[in-house]
Amino acid sequence: MYHYHPGEIKNPGLEMMIVLVRALIFVCIVIVAGAVGLAAGLPAFVGGTAGGLFIFALFCSRPFLEVTNYKCPDCGNRTRVIKNFGAYRCSNCGQENRI
Ligand SMILES: [Zn+2]
Repeated sequence: MYHYHPGEIKNPGLEMMIVLVRALIFVCIVIVAGAVGLAAGLPAFVGGTAGGLFIFALFCSRPFLEVTNYKCPDCGNRTRVIKNFGAYRCSNCGQENRI
């Protein structure tokens, strides 16, 4: 058995090694925990990641829910509409037009 007593370290290199070993143990615990999580809930992880990336892509996508100015070609009513929404029914004359 190796007995470690605080204050016995005279060599700075040994202290560095202990810090390094602690860091390695911490990294190993994180890796093992991550591996266990992956093995236990792989579908949820993949789904969550894919869903998160999809939402992130939508959020960062400029055309998504971009508001644009719209002028009704029939009555000239101007309004603000969501771009690429598909069709818009004019609130003034009721004429439906594609945006
Ligand atoms: Zn109109």
